[in-house]
Amino acid sequence: MARMTQEELYMREAIRLAKKAAALKEVPIGCVIVHDGKIIGRGYNRRTIDKNVLAHAEIIAMRKACRVLGDWRLEECTMYVTLEPCPMCAGAIVQARVPKVVMACMNPKAGCAGSVLDMFHEDRFNHQVETEVGLMGDICSQMLKDFFKELREEGKRKKKEAEAREAGRYEETGAGVSGDHDSHDPVYKSTDGTRTE
Ligand SMILES: [Zn+2]
Repeated sequence: MARMTQEELYMREAIRLAKKAAALKEVPIGCVIVHDGKIIGRGYNRRTIDKNVLAHAEIIAMRKACRVLGDWRLEECTMYVTLEPCPMCAGAIVQARVPKVVMACMNPKAGCAGSVLDMFHEDRFNHQVETEVGLMGDICSQMLKDFFKELREEGKRKKKEAEAREAGRYEETGAGVSGDHDSHDPVYKSTDGTRTE
């Protein structure tokens, strides 16, 4: 097997971080920030577990890199991220003046480095970001597909379990529940519904 390039090694580290997110049932996204050939910031998506909309891989990695450099500017850094950044992260990347972002795969539904918007090549901003797409892209897009497939399957399993539990009991909303909807039987029966005196 051919030796991995330095860039691939950085992306491989971002993938390792993304897998940590997946292990926590978070969307697998990982990020590293490299300065002078050294990784100075690592992050992976923790949005759900941290209950924090800001806890994206890129933001976490940027916080760490800023702490290491003692600066809010990340001017001599390269970011390696497994998925095209969202508007929030793309904005922070522009604000931090990161010169270059290497992305494994694009995010057609939310990406802001060319998919939905291109915040990295916007002349009206005072900073533009050089981008590179596709480094270990197949691995990263497969990782996301596998994650969502597993999530859907788990969702189906849970729904089936819930339906089994709910069988014969009160149907709260009826929304999203498959199966019979034509039954209007008052299945929820309260034992103390009538008072006898
Ligand atoms: Zn983001």
